[in-house]
Amino acid sequence: MLSTVLKQKVKQAREVWLLLDYDGTLADFAPTPDTILPDPGLVALIKNFTTLPAVQLGIISGRRLAHIETLVPLDGIWRAGSYGLEMTSPKGEHIEQIEFSAVRPSLEQLKPRWERLLAGQEGFYLEDKGWSLALHARFVEDRLAESILNQAASLASETLSTGKPFKLLGGYKFLEIAPAGADKGQTVQYLLNNYALPPYFTIYLGDDDKDEKAFPVVHTHGGLTGLVSKQDRQTAADFRLETPAQTRQWLKDLYSFLQG
Ligand SMILES: [Mg+2]
Repeated sequence: MLSTVLKQKVKQAREVWLLLDYDGTLADFAPTPDTILPDPGLVALIKNFTTLPAVQLGIISGRRLAHIETLVPLDGIWRAGSYGLEMTSPKGEHIEQIEFSAVRPSLEQLKPRWERLLAGQEGFYLEDKGWSLALHARFVEDRLAESILNQAASLASETLSTGKPFKLLGGYKFLEIAPAGADKGQTVQYLLNNYALPPYFTIYLGDDDKDEKAFPVVHTHGGLTGLVSKQDRQTAADFRLETPAQTRQWLKDLYSFLQG
């Protein structure tokens, strides 16, 4: 259900910015991160919003941009990969927030070290996202996952200490080394500062700690935020949806409201 506050804010806005995370928010988690299967129902739902001239829709994901472009093969929307380090605009323009060449050499140094660490280990997946390296261990037993991810973090700390702006991102049986600028909050700030026409109203929906970085930024712009989670956990978000299926229903309601 859309809240009364949200409906009022939408009515008063000239532009509505609808910023959405992908995995865990719009779609259930894929079995492995290299599973890239577009969901026709979801694509149709997003496409509906592109017919509304007052709406700017953006997908902001930690996945690499090429994956998001495959998952949501639509013009007329913002698509941000690697937490927004690389994006395509609604007109298809390619935007990079930092220089790839400044990032890649350090990752090239670390990658073979992580590969050696994982050699012979079952269930781990090293994802080279170009702008970052991610280690997935979702299907690995707890203690082993923790041990290997800790060792990977130590190896990465050498890369982190070279003076280049890198950071480690954590998560559930997950570790990623990424440029410091890989931040959804920073990306939301960039989009709204550079492209939003006032009076605009922003809605952001996301499910994890990377999205929590975006919530306060959206609030400083007068927007509302929704957490997608089954658990009533600590969050900066204004409201909660339980599952990606609920998110989709919520978006359908929003679309109907915007049409009317
Ligand atoms: Mg997510």
